[in-house]
Amino acid sequence: RIVYVNGEYLPEEEAKISIFDRGFLMADGVYEVTSVLNGKLIDFDGHAKRLERSLKELSMNAPVTMDELLAIHRELVTKNDLVDGMIYLQVTRGAPGDRDFVFPDPETTPSTLVMFTQSKPGLADSPVAKTGNKVISVEDIRWGRRDIKTVQLLWPSMAKMMAKKAGVDDAWFVEDGFVTEGSSNNAYIVKGNKIITRALSNDILHGITRAAVLRFAAEAQYEVEERNFTIAEAQEADEAFTTSASAFVMPVVEVDGVKIGEGVPGTVAPRLREIYIEEMRKQAI
Ligand code: PMP
Repeated sequence: RIVYVNGEYLPEEEAKISIFDRGFLMADGVYEVTSVLNGKLIDFDGHAKRLERSLKELSMNAPVTMDELLAIHRELVTKNDLVDGMIYLQVTRGAPGDRDFVFPDPETTPSTLVMFTQSKPGLADSPVAKTGNKVISVEDIRWGRRDIKTVQLLWPSMAKMMAKKAGVDDAWFVEDGFVTEGSSNNAYIVKGNKIITRALSNDILHGITRAAVLRFAAEAQYEVEERNFTIAEAQEADEAFTTSASAFVMPVVEVDGVKIGEGVPGTVAPRLREIYIEEMRKQAI
């Protein structure tokens, strides 16, 4: 695999960053994931805009312009013959000469940019989408700025391990009795013609897939209600699903051991998945 690190394209074994990189020492970094279908980028613009916002919220400098970022994405697709999969980009506050809590001067410590691809042949035809995911609820003990896409993924990672141990696929986070989001996706329930999902705030990541799916849902005449919901409400819903750039729209068929509806994907989530993939393929660049 050819990866990108600070201006260079290298075989992954040759790519190196400093031991003083603040991403490593302090999780002082942000990231993005963009899907690739048939060699084209899905919603690159949305991801580039969220990256700019994440950087701004943390007073971090952009390592390259957004045009350059697009060019690097395309170059990685070409160099790796990537057909279907993902491109990860990781930006950190760079590597000052020593360890210090105080931010380094961006003039002398440029931010670090690392990018790599993950090949997932047939990404859009994932068999899991046909059966759906089972989830457990896990207390949301993450920090208060979940709207910034930081590399602090330890609790989501631990929640995934809890899910795995419980014999299910994923975890939904709960705070003050209400679902915030999934470990790496936004969470939704469906009641009749209504799609319910938590409103945007600092409590959740502003999913790029969420924005597109809610737009397509409204166009398809579904009613969209942005409000809090509980696990109990999810268990009584007609359907549930999650959205993310890497899994698109994924039906959720069980929460904390309770089947949702018949315990199989319903009609709304699969339809939204189909619309999303079809529309985003058309807009891919
Ligand atoms: N919430 C969290 C916590 C996530 O990690 C992700 C995926 N990165 C999402 C939501 C979904 O965001 P997106 O649709 O932009 O991938």
